[in-house]
Amino acid sequence: MLDKIKALQDEVAAINAATKEEAEELRIKYLSKKGLIGQLFNEFKTVPAEHKKAMGAAINDLKVFALEKINTLKDSFSESNLGANGVDLTLPGEAMKLGTRHPLAVVRNEIIEIFARLGFVVSEGPEIEDDWHVFSALNFPPEHPARDMQDTFFIEKDPDVLLRTHTSSVQVRMMEKTQPPIRAIFPGRVFRNEAISARAHCIFHQIEGLYVDENVSFADLKQTLLYFARELFGEKTEIRLRPSYFPFTEPSAEMDVSCSICGGKGCNVCKYTGWLEILGCGMVDPNVLNLSGIDSEKFNGFAFGMGVERIAMLKYGVKDLRLFFENDVRFLNQFKSAY
Ligand SMILES: [Zn+2]
Repeated sequence: MLDKIKALQDEVAAINAATKEEAEELRIKYLSKKGLIGQLFNEFKTVPAEHKKAMGAAINDLKVFALEKINTLKDSFSESNLGANGVDLTLPGEAMKLGTRHPLAVVRNEIIEIFARLGFVVSEGPEIEDDWHVFSALNFPPEHPARDMQDTFFIEKDPDVLLRTHTSSVQVRMMEKTQPPIRAIFPGRVFRNEAISARAHCIFHQIEGLYVDENVSFADLKQTLLYFARELFGEKTEIRLRPSYFPFTEPSAEMDVSCSICGGKGCNVCKYTGWLEILGCGMVDPNVLNLSGIDSEKFNGFAFGMGVERIAMLKYGVKDLRLFFENDVRFLNQFKSAY
């Protein structure tokens, strides 16, 4: 019987388990009443009295050894699930909700990508500006009635410090420090003192563009904007240019795109005209080039500007401008995009 105990001792020393369940099976195999060690206690009854003491001690030692071994195996499985603070790492985590890009950022990025393909670089500038960069350098003389076209947030007067009313101020900054060729777009927030409604807000986003080089023509302007319109609204899109007025361009135009909702037939979005106004543009006034230190005898160029909210409203059929600023996740979750 001692040989049997010795053999079981060696067997138990070698056991291993890959799972908690396997460890439990080992417990039943060795330590249950009908298990291998349990049976030794039955056989023990037949052991002659003079050997009972030594034999009993040997069986008990084996039982304690097996118990410790199997408990260690079991503990190793429960321990592997617990972190340093006793937290069960196998429990599912709390799901983190993934956000989406804001629709204005989606549209802005898409517009930037289109012009990047034509070689336009992105340039940004300060939102708090001086009079020179917002008005004077752009051909708005002190008493010019065009200045009254802008309802401006002034921070200080004389000298004037104000929130920029357009990103044209960044165009001026670029022309002041760069000689042509210049090919850049200027995305950013602008501010106007307007009552907030479904169609107007005191903050909105613009993207302006500027191209200055030798021999730039109005045909270059038109072809660039046609390419842009077709990339953004689809290849069947048509454009039309209507004469307009801006202090900083001459000649100036408003650009319409054919309504992508009705295909030009007329619907309530395009107010039954078949056309949607999306941007203003024109050839840069030579005086503006000269004011920024660019020789208008040698160089000329075109510029354009559009409101990001306006384009996002058309693209997504959003009817109220205020939705863009409320940060309601029910609204924002509807915009998923690669941009
Ligand atoms: Zn329409």
